[in-house]
Amino acid sequence: MNASYPFDPALHEPGSVAARGGCSHHAEDSTEQTECSGEAVVSFEGEDGTWRSGCSLALEALVEHGDIEPLGQGA
Ligand SMILES: [Zn+2]
Repeated sequence: MNASYPFDPALHEPGSVAARGGCSHHAEDSTEQTECSGEAVVSFEGEDGTWRSGCSLALEALVEHGDIEPLGQGA
C-alpha cells in the first residue's frame, strides 16, 4: 500500500497533468472506463515510484482496492 497526501501540485513534475491540478490517474489510464471528476484531490506514490494525482473518484477506488492509504490515516 502506498502513501497518499492531500493534493499538492509541488510534488508533481512541472507541466504534467497533475501539476496543473488535473487527475493523472485517469488521464494516464485510458483502459479504465471510469468517470473522472477531473480535479485532483490526492497525491500518491504509484507502484513505479512516481507521483500521481487522483480525483475524488480515483481516491475512492484506490482506497477501496487497497492501493493507497485513506487520506489522514498515514502510518
Ligand atoms: Zn479522475
